[in-house]
Amino acid sequence: MALTLYNTLTRSKEAFTPIDPGHVKLYVCGPTVYDYAHVGNARTFSAFDLLARLLKHLYPRVTYARNITDVDDKIIERSHKSGEPIDSVTARTTAQFHADMDGLGLLRPDVEPRATTHIGQMRAMIDTLVEKGFAYAAEGHVLFHVPAMPDYGRLSRRSQDELIAGARVEVAPYKRSPADFVLWKPAKAGEPGWDNPASAGPGQGRPGWHIECSAMSAMHLGAMFDIHGGGLDLIFPHHENEIAQSRCAHGTPVMANVWMHSGFLTIAGDKMSKSLGNFYTARELLDEFPGEAIRLALLSAHYRQPLDFTKDKIAQAKQTLDRWYGVLRAAGTAPVDTAPVPAEVLQALCDDLNTPLAISALHELANSFHKAGTEAEKRAAAAALKAGAGLLGFLGQEAESWFRWAPKGADLDATAIEAAIQARKDARKAKNFAEADRIRADLLAQGIVLEDGPQGTSWKRA
Ligand code: AMP
Ligand code: ZN
Repeated sequence: MALTLYNTLTRSKEAFTPIDPGHVKLYVCGPTVYDYAHVGNARTFSAFDLLARLLKHLYPRVTYARNITDVDDKIIERSHKSGEPIDSVTARTTAQFHADMDGLGLLRPDVEPRATTHIGQMRAMIDTLVEKGFAYAAEGHVLFHVPAMPDYGRLSRRSQDELIAGARVEVAPYKRSPADFVLWKPAKAGEPGWDNPASAGPGQGRPGWHIECSAMSAMHLGAMFDIHGGGLDLIFPHHENEIAQSRCAHGTPVMANVWMHSGFLTIAGDKMSKSLGNFYTARELLDEFPGEAIRLALLSAHYRQPLDFTKDKIAQAKQTLDRWYGVLRAAGTAPVDTAPVPAEVLQALCDDLNTPLAISALHELANSFHKAGTEAEKRAAAAALKAGAGLLGFLGQEAESWFRWAPKGADLDATAIEAAIQARKDARKAKNFAEADRIRADLLAQGIVLEDGPQGTSWKRA
């Protein structure tokens, strides 16, 4: 099946041709670990998680790298404010990030390089850029000299004149051109520091943000690789500068062939962000909703479109999953057969990750289960639904365990609910229908819906 992807570099949808079809390589800019990830970050990581899943379905080998930025001004600031050592802030936040992304059902990347363990590679790359005349040292800094790269600005489609005009305010005196950007900067007292690259002279400093992704992608994926991704806000300056560093250091025509950017998760039209304070952390939503429902809500819009966040969208996604897991449960006690991924689901995803279309194809499969006349047709429809949803990373758990999920602090756990269902059954047997109805109403008041079917009574949370 041919895969087409929208490439920000060319502003068009293109057929994807891997450099080596035997081994596809994907790099995604990961989190800066100083605080909980919000659900906007999770949207971007969910989009690229889906891309990694699809690539792994289509190609024999895929390396998906997503870095951890564990040296950054925000981390230093957080540590200074709270008194918690930097290493502890970054280790704790990385563990939280892993727990949250696991909770949402994302696959771990194959490689997860941390900036602080790649300082040597960054220093070497900086020295190469200075040797080749693309960078210079000034007052303990090393800066990339933007005018040295004639086609700088191709990704964001900005001309150098525009960049110079845009950078007028507060240009540091040591910059040769206002558009030049930092590769290395001196460490102030109390800040983490590493020995300078040789080109910066003696002393200690730390890397700028952009150089880490250039150094780590080269180390783990090579000087040129297939796909580079991140949120829309990374196109400029981060990705533009990554491209400048990598191409100039390696002398390559491109850094990655395809550049993909996900749209923003917004709240009432504004980008969800830490600085605006208009965010929900993944952690707090995971207390309230099943991770699978949050992720389905995040994938419900096409990844390049903005998606306005509401909790109602997650509640709707939960209902969808109730319906799909309901199909698996109704398909009987024998495990649902394995089936190939239905063509309509695969086709939708291969068209630049068209998740709305893929999800509507899954709805159709759930409908076809209910319309099916024979037991064999029903089992085939359930198997197709499971395989299609499975490609997107859904319906991976037992239906019973899905329906047993409870929000944090829920009054009723599964054992209590099942005891109440048994009591209702006993009451019915004893023809005490008033009591049976009371139990049902009592459960409903607590958000538990009972469904009587040929295989007995099942329940779900409303
Ligand atoms: P950060 O930890 O701030 O570097 O962000 C990690 C990733 O989340 C980057 O790829 C950002 O582009 C992305 N991101 C940040 N805010 C949003 C948002 N509101 N919607 C979608 N992606 C976002
Ligand atoms: Zn990056």
